Amino acid sequence: MKSVPVIAVALSWFCLVSAKPEPVSELNQVFYHAAGPSSIELGKVVFYFAKEVPLEKPTITQSIEHGIKRVEFRFDGAHASRGTLAAARELFAKIDKAMCTIELQAKKGNRPSVVLRIAYNPEMVGFESDLFDAIKHEKGFMCTLLNKPLLQRLSGTMPILKTVSTSKRGGIVIDMGHGGQDHGALSLHSIAEKDITLGIGMKLSTLLRSAGFDVTCTRSDDSFVPLDVRTTLCNRCDKADIVVSIHANSGQSSASGIETFCYKPIHTSSASDLSCTAQKTYNAALLSRCNQSLSLAQSIQGSLIEQAKKKQCTVVSRGVKQAASQLLLGATKPVVLAEVGFLTNPIESALLSSDEYQQAIARGLLNGICAYFTASAQV
Ligand SMILES: [Zn+2]
Repeated sequence: MKSVPVIAVALSWFCLVSAKPEPVSELNQVFYHAAGPSSIELGKVVFYFAKEVPLEKPTITQSIEHGIKRVEFRFDGAHASRGTLAAARELFAKIDKAMCTIELQAKKGNRPSVVLRIAYNPEMVGFESDLFDAIKHEKGFMCTLLNKPLLQRLSGTMPILKTVSTSKRGGIVIDMGHGGQDHGALSLHSIAEKDITLGIGMKLSTLLRSAGFDVTCTRSDDSFVPLDVRTTLCNRCDKADIVVSIHANSGQSSASGIETFCYKPIHTSSASDLSCTAQKTYNAALLSRCNQSLSLAQSIQGSLIEQAKKKQCTVVSRGVKQAASQLLLGATKPVVLAEVGFLTNPIESALLSSDEYQQAIARGLLNGICAYFTASAQV
């Protein structure tokens, strides 16, 4: 008779271990990007979830009490490690509490969840949230905190978002991907992506300066610069009109070619606390920035291919693609990311390791940037 409870326990254990677990999406990384003081945005909170499980729409609840609005996003089926939570809390602690407070919690159990709570004064702060697909196939979620008084002042007039460069030609931030302990991809010729992006970026910087442009670089040696520090630098660089980020690709050995990315939001939430006219102003500003990024990407992609083909006629164009990465999301000015070739492809790895080809790529970037500024001046 004593065996009955043993069998029952064994059966329930068997049922528990054999039941197919619900898929869980890991919260891989959290970023906070501060915007510049004169920007229509105040800051952005960005979440990256693992690529295996498609991220479903979060559950949103809102309440307002004593003039403070609280918005809660619950991501059912998402898991966050202690390290991710600690890193996120460290970032959120640096945010000016007069603007907003942000909390992140992870709930364990059969069905884990991640809860994001944001509290802010809706008189001063507007709010948008977006889902996006990241370049490396992760799923992303982003909250944008908006400068509501500035948007209201700009309402009814077209916002002047263009920054003022001290140079007649224009101002550029060059972002050389990776650096320091972040090596990026490794080429078949044992050269790290960080060295190739530095080589091309420094050559581009020389070319741009001699053509009369204002140039700021996110790094000029083999140092590690965190992604949110890079975006803050871009956003606070008043003399810069555009941002160009340089990377090299990796994949299967057969994969090859050059591609340029820019970001286009998929969805804009309606709960932004903005008046109808301020919302229109914000949407117009966002659309204008996206269109400028797209024309910069098209211009750069075309001239990169033209210059690369002069050195290697088999180089193919993978085109302009719209997806997100940290810099593309965090920068509050027109921004593109160029993947200048595949380090895992034998031919492109050899090319990108040579000074001569790096110079051709830098020339392609320069020509694309020049053509973009010429076209913008004619609009
Ligand atoms: Zn890279």
